Amino acid sequence: MTDRVEYVSTRGGSEPRFFSRALLSGIAEDGGLFSPDKVPTLSATELSRLRPLKYWQRAFHILRKFNPDMPDVTLGEMTRDAYGSNFDSLDVAPVVSIGNRQYMQELWHGPSGAFKDMALQIMPLMFEEACAKDNRAREAASLGPLRYFVIGTTSGDTGAAAIEGYKNKRSLSIAVFYPRGKVSRLQELMMTTQDGNNVFVGAMEGDFDAIQRAAKETFADKEFNDLLLDQYGVVLSSANSINWGRIVPQIAYHVSAYVDLLEKGVIEPGDKIDIAVPTGNFGNILSAFYAKQMGVPINKLVCASNENNVLTAFLQTGIYDIRERSMKQTPSPSMDILVSSNVERLLYEITRDPVRVYRWMEELKTNKVFKVDEDVLKRLHEDFYAGWVENDECLQNIKDLFERKNYLMDTHTSVAHRVAQEYQEQNPSNRPLIISSTAHWAKFPRDIRKALLGSDANQIIADASPEETEFSIISQIMKLVPNATVPQSIATLQAKPERFAGVADAESEWIKRAILSYLQPKAA
Ligand SMILES: *Cc1c(COP(=O)(O)O)cnc(C)c1O
Repeated sequence: MTDRVEYVSTRGGSEPRFFSRALLSGIAEDGGLFSPDKVPTLSATELSRLRPLKYWQRAFHILRKFNPDMPDVTLGEMTRDAYGSNFDSLDVAPVVSIGNRQYMQELWHGPSGAFKDMALQIMPLMFEEACAKDNRAREAASLGPLRYFVIGTTSGDTGAAAIEGYKNKRSLSIAVFYPRGKVSRLQELMMTTQDGNNVFVGAMEGDFDAIQRAAKETFADKEFNDLLLDQYGVVLSSANSINWGRIVPQIAYHVSAYVDLLEKGVIEPGDKIDIAVPTGNFGNILSAFYAKQMGVPINKLVCASNENNVLTAFLQTGIYDIRERSMKQTPSPSMDILVSSNVERLLYEITRDPVRVYRWMEELKTNKVFKVDEDVLKRLHEDFYAGWVENDECLQNIKDLFERKNYLMDTHTSVAHRVAQEYQEQNPSNRPLIISSTAHWAKFPRDIRKALLGSDANQIIADASPEETEFSIISQIMKLVPNATVPQSIATLQAKPERFAGVADAESEWIKRAILSYLQPKAA
């Protein structure tokens, strides 16, 4: 092993490789997820040095530690471009006090109004660079260039963020697939009105897990992948958080939140904080876990779930069990996930034992249940607190915080805020707690109105005219909320035509057909 970070599969079946290769591949050949072979450290001195820096400079330092295998100047330009005027806050990911030692880290100031932008504004830049580098090497070896077909499956927010990031890039196409009727109408419009020249959007019948499974099958279908390569010179990749390229930029904002609290004088060097995260595919909270592994003084990671609370049970008991579960619809659709992909990376990081990880993942696939060993459970209890929130409680909590603090949060953030309250009540301390605020409220106007109006809402909704749209609901909310603002990306949606219609079954067959119908055979 060199001391530079390389990437290995959580299931042990792939050679270590550099960042750019892991990024292009998305998922390892053995079905595992690329993870760093060692976690770089961040000393107290280094943390202090980040204090006066801008967000992009902080991100540069964190990304650099994970050996992105590109020149520093290139990485510097990339981070500056990714975290600039495309965010509507100069601080990019500002940390805002809401009292009771609680702080919101607003991760939704990017172009799609959700925290997915934090990774998906930079990942496509890194992807293009990796692709160019690879094609230069291929050319030197007298091989033709490759193009990429990036697939994103989305429970709501990944789709728009991935398209925003990947649209109009030369070396690739991007297709996103979402469960029809199971994302908010605005989330849907943010995908279907996209105008990039390399974009495809597909609605599917079924839930997110079914679509994620179909995508994983597509990645694993060797015959299909060979055909794409031979006939079209195309390779598949993933925009989801199974791709390491999604995780590393997210580590940066957790570090930045800590540094902000230092800078504000809320904490002294070495003081610990807690971080609460509304969790679905476990990418965001895993990034916080890596920040902790690097040495950021983090006490507990508070994992918050909605009624699809498989993670709460897992982190409490060590048993991941989806045998009796079916997906519930909740006001926080981006967390409506039962098979939470990045748990695999957590287990690898804790055990560093690909044999055990492989066995657990096989058990989950075949028996729909696995149980970790005692040593692992002990570690989970040390690092995590887990809780979940009922749908009504989620909405009630939005109203409560708004009335107490005049702060309007979205439905996902509310889940984390509620569980964080419960955690603080059970574990009284002076530690500051950062809540990952993952979306702007305006992406979920129906549920936000319902939350703010409480019991009056049913009547008003029943009276609502049939012409009522998401946009008229947003206007109603704006009257209730002085000083509220709506992101440009949402305000301008109204005028845009929908480019994609139609719906297919959530099966890999349809994903493959969509890809093929989109591709041009390569010149002979
Ligand atoms: C994606 C998403 C989540 C869940 O994040 P994971 O990294 O998948 O755990 C939570 N809230 C919002 C608004 C999201 O878009």
